[in-house]
Amino acid sequence: YLKLEGIRKQFGTTTVLNQVNLDIREGELVTLLGPSGCGKSTLLRCIAGLTEIDEGQIWLDDKDIVNLPPRSREIGMVFQSYALFPNLTVRENIEYGMRMRGAAKEARRQRSDELLELIDLADKRDAYPAQLSGGQQQRVALARSLAVRPKVLLLDEPLSALDAKIRKNLRMEIREIQKQFNMTTIFVTHDQEEALTLSDRVCLMNQGNIVQQGTPEELYAKPSTEFVARFMGSYN
Ligand code: ATP
Ligand code: MG
Repeated sequence: YLKLEGIRKQFGTTTVLNQVNLDIREGELVTLLGPSGCGKSTLLRCIAGLTEIDEGQIWLDDKDIVNLPPRSREIGMVFQSYALFPNLTVRENIEYGMRMRGAAKEARRQRSDELLELIDLADKRDAYPAQLSGGQQQRVALARSLAVRPKVLLLDEPLSALDAKIRKNLRMEIREIQKQFNMTTIFVTHDQEEALTLSDRVCLMNQGNIVQQGTPEELYAKPSTEFVARFMGSYN
């Protein structure tokens, strides 16, 4: 499981995360929704260790990981922009993290073959990112983050740069992979439909706080504040 306790983060004098608490059980997919600038990406970056927090604790299976460097956190992250290494092939991109961790060539090959099958891009293994479509690049980014067998997967609007049809297919694919690996996942999105169809639980953020969490149905049916009601579109 992943547990966040009292996470605070300031940039200069601006408080971007204000005492965020969140519990995610193993295998759960939680979506983070909220207006632009409310702190979603910052929260993911803090969990991944790419941004240092000012206060709080981050527990991953009984271990406080706050002082661990990103590479030791067992957390995979996929960003909105694909950010593959342009000078590496698809296979080399997928194997990158394993190589950094000193995995033997044989083991890397086996794992990348598995993942290439999973994302249905075995025939593109020797292509370079520029030769792939946006959706294909995002599948490679997903495979790359899964390659090192993270305990938690963080997805920061991984589909938002894609057109509607590809987005729909890919989100079902992500959900299948997530279930298959029983992967604890936080999925940030602007797209409410995406949040509603994908998640076990929705967390709505506003101004550095989680203002309500529950099943998609609960947030619609019983918004706790006017903000939630407005955001979920059920305000009359
Ligand atoms: P969006 O939906 O637009 O992606 P978000 O919820 O992901 O928004 P964040 O990127 O987490 O928002 O940003 C939250 C706030 O923190 C914003 O006001 C942003 O300007 C500020 N911020 C983020 N990163 C930095 C930084 N490195 N330095 C200073 N301020 C930052
Ligand atoms: Mg963001």
